[in-house]
Amino acid sequence: MNILVTGGAGYIGSHTVVELMKAGIDVVVVDNLVNSSKESLKRVEAITGKAVPFVEADIRDRAAMKKIFAENKFDAVIHFAGLKAVGESVQKPLMYYENNISGSLVLFEEMAAAGCKNIIFSSSATVYGDPAFVPITEECPKGKITNPYGRTKDMLEQILTDIQTADPDWNVILLRYFNPIGAHESGTIGENPNGIPNNLMPYITQVAVGKLKELGVFGNDYDTPDGTCIRDYIHVVDLADGHVKALNRIQQNPGLAIYNLGTGTGSSVLDVIHAFEEANGVKIPFSFKPRRAGDVAVNYCDAAKAKKELGWEAKFNLTDMCRDSWRWQKNNPNGYED
Ligand code: NAD
Ligand code: UDP
Repeated sequence: MNILVTGGAGYIGSHTVVELMKAGIDVVVVDNLVNSSKESLKRVEAITGKAVPFVEADIRDRAAMKKIFAENKFDAVIHFAGLKAVGESVQKPLMYYENNISGSLVLFEEMAAAGCKNIIFSSSATVYGDPAFVPITEECPKGKITNPYGRTKDMLEQILTDIQTADPDWNVILLRYFNPIGAHESGTIGENPNGIPNNLMPYITQVAVGKLKELGVFGNDYDTPDGTCIRDYIHVVDLADGHVKALNRIQQNPGLAIYNLGTGTGSSVLDVIHAFEEANGVKIPFSFKPRRAGDVAVNYCDAAKAKKELGWEAKFNLTDMCRDSWRWQKNNPNGYED
């Protein structure tokens, strides 16, 4: 199998490329490096012992995309490329719509022109908004999305659904990720946020490594057992494996299929802090802060459909995730800039 991986130099993409290559699948990565570095792919090469074919290009660049499809015959595309910072998307909505939507439209058009009609798309639990029920199954209605980033995910799900309805030759798998954290066990690839992290785990690891003084816990008055928000954290290597399993499924011509990728276990912010401290023997100073706008109290999934239809389930627990996130941060205090 030969797969085009858009955004393959990024956090989830680089881990997925490792798992694909381990499974004997050929890949070509296309990435414009707007939120990543070539170094991640060098490290993927060190892990796998194989070269990673890489094209530095923007998916909005039609000529570049045409060239990639002319030079390669792909069985499927795994589409990670996109901007993902929620707060930035509120400030710069046009940039988000232009990059994520326009870029994806060029990709889909060039796929169609090349006759490659199999795609796995990185969607997000954000499409459920404040979920109608938990654990969230794929049947849970979509909710009110509070930011442009989330709306690009919702819109792209709809666009792909419409494309598949119009032409049943398309096979579209929408993967709704819950909260990816952790890193490859080698400690050589991991999440490498620009500036001060917005997400919980990179913030914790930067406190642990001494780059930030203390963690602010956003809200302790939610209707949850300890008052802090509950999420479904999933190890990025499990998530990566979900893509390999989804590729097996796409070969069975599923038409349109949607899967939650999470562990099915909810953990509060305090659970994560305590698990991190215990797994790594490092103290995380924190204080409670007001709620963060747009946060929902509880969000975790029912992952039974992915188990039944993909034969996939998460193998790593929160302790594993905390240990691996810390190994990556400790070994690479400045991410890929070392
Ligand atoms: P990331 O920023 O590390 O990776 C995205 C990659 O896409 C980066 O390498 C970036 O340089 C590249 N990219 C962005 N715009 C591009 C363009 N126009 N052309 C070519 N390359 C471009 O993010 P990630 O955490 O690895 O996320 C991967 C995908 O999964 C994204 O679509 C993201 O929205 C989605 N997702 C992420 C999370 C999460 O919490 N990390 C949760 C749900 C969904
Ligand atoms: N959070 C926090 N402090 C931080 C970052 C996040 O308390 O510095 C909380 C946030 O309120 C949410 C959880 O951690 O309840 C996960 O947040 P993250 O941004 O990682 O993911 P989200 O679920 O919002 O996509």
